[in-house]
Amino acid sequence: MAELLKNFFLTLSNNRTLNAGAQKFGLKLGAQSVVAGTNIDEAIETIRHLNEQGIEATIDNLGEFVHDRAEATAAKEQILAVVEAIHASGVQSHISIKPSQVGLDIDYDFCLENVLEIAEKAYEYGIFINLDQENYSRLHPTFSILEAVHAKYPGIVGTVIQAYFHEAMDNLEKYSDYRLRIVKGAYKEPADVAYTDKADIDANYVKLLEYSLLHAKYTSVATHDHTIIAHIKKFVKEHDISNDKFEFQMLYGFRSDMQKELAKEGYHFTTYVPFGEDWYGYFMRRLAERPQNLALVTKQVFNK
Ligand code: FAD
Repeated sequence: MAELLKNFFLTLSNNRTLNAGAQKFGLKLGAQSVVAGTNIDEAIETIRHLNEQGIEATIDNLGEFVHDRAEATAAKEQILAVVEAIHASGVQSHISIKPSQVGLDIDYDFCLENVLEIAEKAYEYGIFINLDQENYSRLHPTFSILEAVHAKYPGIVGTVIQAYFHEAMDNLEKYSDYRLRIVKGAYKEPADVAYTDKADIDANYVKLLEYSLLHAKYTSVATHDHTIIAHIKKFVKEHDISNDKFEFQMLYGFRSDMQKELAKEGYHFTTYVPFGEDWYGYFMRRLAERPQNLALVTKQVFNK
């Protein structure tokens, strides 16, 4: 049943027509609990509040299904405005970008130009950029963009390692000089490239985290999984790994009490703060990960 629901929501997450319809609705269906508003001011206000609790942010100006140049250029302009807003407001935040949002599905060189333009501004202000990883067909193009941006603006960019991919450890070893966020993986992938069994994904996830904590430059442990978080807390203690070598990350609106508690315990903590009108695909993937998130929907629908 859980697998059925997961596939159901992942299929919905790829539906362009529903995505277009959802944009017209505003933040509905419970999405407002996990999306920090539809405009930059609301997102900056949310981040200010997180910063007051000792939590930093990475901000994602939501956007998917971008298949024409005008849309990708508009998305780039919006992201540049976000970089300006972080700088002007002085909040503690970096940015997360999905390469498909700025043109990866249209043309690689066009996308790279867009990312480089964002990186130029971010570099000027010292604002870190994370290139989010999407599905398998975009994995290697995203690594290529990572390398190209790093060559021009060293240290300003990092990316994500998704534990469900069979090649995840090879990629982690190759990119361990970058700041890396390690996750289980959120998209629907075929068995020839990815583990599909949850126990296998979890085991590989722990293996990658341990390797990264011991060998990589900086590790973002991005999970809501309390068992794995407890394991990592024990692991860093046993191996004398200092708090400035890693951080925990979670998504905005999930396990908020645990987020505050980890920050209070003295761990670096970053909350992933998505905002914008294009919330549909993001929200469907969250429902796929944890069908209990449906409770968010029913609460919003019936509390009206
Ligand atoms: P799960 O495997 O979903 O959950 C494990 C267990 O934790 C559950 O069984 C439950 O007991 C407990 N649990 C989980 N959530 C809750 C909750 N809300 N309340 C109570 N208990 C809970 N994926 C990508 O593919 N690319 C990315 O770039 C990317 N970036 C991400 C950035 C961040 C900051 C985070 C946190 C995730 C990101 N992801 C990304 C998503 C990630 O790949 C997973 O799909 C997602 O985090 C779900 O896996 P999990 O590790 O949180 O735990």
